[in-house]
Amino acid sequence: MTPATPTLLRPTDPADVSRLLAGARAVAGGTDLLVQRRAGAEMPTLVDLSGLAGTRPAVVRDDATGELTLSAVHPLTDIADGAARAFPALTAAIGQFASTTIRNRATIGGNLVTGSPAADTAPALLAAGAVVDIVTPDGARRTVDLADFLLGPRRVDLAVGEWVTSVRVPQPPAEGGFRKIGGRRAQAISFLNLAWQWHREPDGRLTGVRLAMGSVAPTVVRLRTAAAALEAQIPTQDVVDAAVAVIDADISPIDDLRASAHYRRRCARGLLREALLPPSPGERPDQYVTPTTREKNQ
Ligand SMILES: Cc1cc2nc3c(=O)[nH]c(=O)nc-3n(C[C@H](O)[C@H](O)[C@H](O)COP(=O)(O)OP(=O)(O)OC[C@H]3O[C@@H](n4cnc5c(N)ncnc54)[C@H](O)[C@@H]3O)c2cc1C
Repeated sequence: MTPATPTLLRPTDPADVSRLLAGARAVAGGTDLLVQRRAGAEMPTLVDLSGLAGTRPAVVRDDATGELTLSAVHPLTDIADGAARAFPALTAAIGQFASTTIRNRATIGGNLVTGSPAADTAPALLAAGAVVDIVTPDGARRTVDLADFLLGPRRVDLAVGEWVTSVRVPQPPAEGGFRKIGGRRAQAISFLNLAWQWHREPDGRLTGVRLAMGSVAPTVVRLRTAAAALEAQIPTQDVVDAAVAVIDADISPIDDLRASAHYRRRCARGLLREALLPPSPGERPDQYVTPTTREKNQ
């Protein structure tokens, strides 16, 4: 039976949100929440945060430090437009997110608060060292590292009545990217995803290497061992082989309905190799990430 239609409150002043959230639940794009509701979840009163988007820009860049403040309540399309080249890994992640229709509704706040290990904005944000800005029920503010915010599958560090206003990242380097593997090219939850960022020195060495992967652990995780194997190295075939060889130390995938742990380990190695040694024109774009259906279920 479809649950009763909830009361929808739509504040346009951020100062009103904490008061309205008492006994209610936040909704932003609704792309996750409405699926839960259709599955029978009761939610008598919803506080629609999308009306706050008109009160501030989607993305603000601090000219002095380069820090980016990303609104948690704007649609992903606006975030990608605002961040554009300033945050290539996130822009790429949004480009591969669901479909235009979903991207025009879904938000970073909603994506992170779902606590999904497959959330597509999380790897780029985690690799970039993001912090999450939260408003508490009494209107005070607190900030938590994204790494600490993500507690486990569908669990985040957000108390009842708290809401996420923004996510901030230090200036990302010019080189970064994102790649996901899903059951199909669009509208697919990731079997696995990877975000990367690094500086490329004039002599070709990579510095400040930061990698994060989703769907290979209870939360999105940094690939610290693999990144350490790449730090200050020129990504030759041997160096890439060495980094790929240690990736198992960073991940702990499990078998689930969508893919086996074996498949995910193989895809993890393939994605990292592909990020470091992109296929040249004429080569198959997914040459490193080609597990078969048989392997997927092994
Ligand atoms: C067809 C389809 C395709 C999808 N494809 C993808 C995909 O490719 N990649 C992917 O990662 N996800 C995907 N999703 C899942 C979903 O779209 C995302 O997780 C999306 O980012 C959720 O954002 P939202 O604003 O719609 O969240 P909502 O549905 O509005 O809310 C989700 C949860 O977050 C809470 N919440 C929302 N905003 C805030 C806030 N600012 N502060 C506190 N709590 C908040 C809500 O209370 C709720 O619990 C897909 C979903 C559908 C239906």
